[in-house]
Amino acid sequence: MTNVFDRLTGQRAVAQELTDAATAARALAARLDAGPADAAEDLAAHPASTGLDDVAALAESEFSDPAVDDPAFDDPAFDDPGPDNPQPTTAVPRASMTHAWLFTGPPGSGRSVAATCFAAALQCQHPDLVGCGECRACVTVMAQTHADVRHIVPQGLSLSVDSMREIVQAAARRPGTGRWQIVVVEDADRLTEQAANALLKVVEEPPSRTVFLLCAPSVDPEDISVTLRSRCRHIPLATPTVADIERVLIDRDGLDADAARWAASVCGGHIGRARRLATDPEARAQRDKALALARAATRDSTAYAAAEELVKSADAAAKAISAERDEAETEEMKTALGAGGTGKGTARPPRGTAGALKELEKRQKSRATRVGRDTLDRALVDLAALYRDALVVSMGAQVTPMHPDKAADIAVPMAAYASPEQLLRCVEAVLECREVLDKNVKPKFAVDAMVATIGAVMRSA
Ligand SMILES: [Zn+2]
Repeated sequence: MTNVFDRLTGQRAVAQELTDAATAARALAARLDAGPADAAEDLAAHPASTGLDDVAALAESEFSDPAVDDPAFDDPAFDDPGPDNPQPTTAVPRASMTHAWLFTGPPGSGRSVAATCFAAALQCQHPDLVGCGECRACVTVMAQTHADVRHIVPQGLSLSVDSMREIVQAAARRPGTGRWQIVVVEDADRLTEQAANALLKVVEEPPSRTVFLLCAPSVDPEDISVTLRSRCRHIPLATPTVADIERVLIDRDGLDADAARWAASVCGGHIGRARRLATDPEARAQRDKALALARAATRDSTAYAAAEELVKSADAAAKAISAERDEAETEEMKTALGAGGTGKGTARPPRGTAGALKELEKRQKSRATRVGRDTLDRALVDLAALYRDALVVSMGAQVTPMHPDKAADIAVPMAAYASPEQLLRCVEAVLECREVLDKNVKPKFAVDAMVATIGAVMRSA
């Protein structure tokens, strides 16, 4: 592996933009280092009065070279805050550095990988390259062990305000070995409202050496607050093409061409899922179960059993994933608390241990719920895509199917049997099911209601 951005599949434009920004950031950091010591102290001591504007001013003085006047950097899309930005942000040249970034893309698009690569490029120690992939900084950032790069992964259903306050405090410190103190927030859409507000506060008045890299599915206000989004420079990731994914599966994962082609064609642009489908028979069986629901739902005699089977299998898959992680974590915690081991005096766990373990169990339970929901959601997305495939067939549209391997078997017969209106109603029923699941309705009830609707729609002439 050479340059860190080589890991991004089908994201050439994004890689270029981030490389430019990291190059600019390096010059800015050098300028901050070389600046009068008292000025640097001032920046650190009074972040409130010397936030982005001062850094931007420094950046501009640093970038009085012709590169800034290059029309390529006059990106109107960047200077225009857009209709979803009520508060105009400080206009920063495209090639310059910004304190807060927002990486968006659907799950599996590699948004957190992109953020991590950018963090590596920002810290990279190579004299000429940014994100060389080989220096100690690049290697440790990519392994998530760099002392000045924090990764925040909300493990449960949301990230609490307390953990966010801790993070914000730590982020305000000056970097140790790196150029910047970087905080990567994966799944920023899972921040609680208070946690998002705590984050917004620091993003509005950022310490001079701190960079926030947020990741979210989209810029929809459901995913990220409008104010927070307006403070960030937005990096939308493209969905990689089938050919891009196929190439990665063959070149990087060593899969054979047939398996790679099939997995790339049915994964919905999600590389991690393509890899799982190609290598894990359980994942393939789960997908088949979800898609089989389309046929089962048309008959009362099979609908509810199939619905139950789907919920159960999502549950089982989630349990398997969680159990593995939970066990290792609990052991680790017990050892850390001195409850493990066999030496003298370690038989009784010290006071407070039970509380800490209970807290851990609570977190694990919340995470298991989330994994279960994500797994079921994935199955529903697959099912909706199958109805969409049938709709495409029945309209005679020239669109690539989402499940080409099920076209002859399910989508084409379904298109012959049902009208476009009926198929559209089925897509809607699946999407409604996803929505109510998101509002904490018990999975069994939500999926039962969905198959009831689909059954009624399909039987209505
Ligand atoms: Zn490097």
